[in-house]
Formats: sequence, structure tokens, C-alpha cells
Amino acid sequence: MSHPVKGQCLCGATKFAVTLKNSDVDACHCAMCRSWSAGPFMGVVATSGPEFEDEASVGIYRSSEWAERVFCKNCGSAIAWRMADGQGHVAISAGTVPLPDDAKLTLQVFIDQKPEFYSFAEKTKEMTGPELIAAFSGGEGA
Ligand SMILES: [Zn+2]
Ligand SMILES: [Zn+2]
Repeated sequence: MSHPVKGQCLCGATKFAVTLKNSDVDACHCAMCRSWSAGPFMGVVATSGPEFEDEASVGIYRSSEWAERVFCKNCGSAIAWRMADGQGHVAISAGTVPLPDDAKLTLQVFIDQKPEFYSFAEKTKEMTGPELIAAFSGGEGA
């Protein structure tokens, strides 16, 4: 069930409104996400956006040909991963938005890049990097 929520970074300088597709959390284990957020990036899929209250604190880092990462320039919080075309997949950092108690980790991507030193106990769907990229190319968001 898609639903509008309000989110914010650690320091509060970056506040935003966004509509979440549901409350399913996915984790990306890719090396870029782990550099960016000190561990796997935990995201919730949004229908679009986010819409920022004030763009002044919003930083955007183009991390690849097709994706960009949105962060707070004041405190460094990871806010969102999104397709650079502005049309495709938007994943909002799970730590920046309120989630219900029954939210679940449902998907792990780039499982082929997960280091050995951690594993989640939750049983989820898993996709390798090449599988995920194939799914995106087919126009189907993962
Ligand atoms: Zn901040
Ligand atoms: Zn990643």
C-alpha cells in the first residue's frame, strides 16, 4: 500500500516528503553502497521524489552512469538512491523515514558482493548484481 510519509536526516537540515510504495525494506550489499553508508544500504521503495522542504542542504553524487545518491551536506546522512533519469527506481534510506513495526526485510541485492563478515538472519529474496541490472534493464524495478 503506497503511503505518504515525512522523513529527515540525522541533523534535521534535510527534511522531505515522499510516498513509499510499501513498507518492505531491501538491502544492497554492493561495494559502492557499503562505502557510502558503512554497511549495506537499507532502502524502502518510493513512488517518486523525494520532495525537499529546502534544497540548500541537499547534496547529489552521481555514482554511476545511471544512478545518483542523495545525501545531507550538513550531517552526511544517506537519504536516497535513485536513477539519474529522474523517472526510475527511487530507494529512500530506511533510517530516515518512519516505518511500521511490521516492516520486513524482503530483498537483498548484490548478494554476490556481500562480505563474509556479516549476514542477515532474515530469509529474503536474493539477487546478484547482474540479475538486478537485468531486471532494471527490462523496465522492472526490483
Ligand atoms: Zn543532515
Ligand atoms: Zn548498492
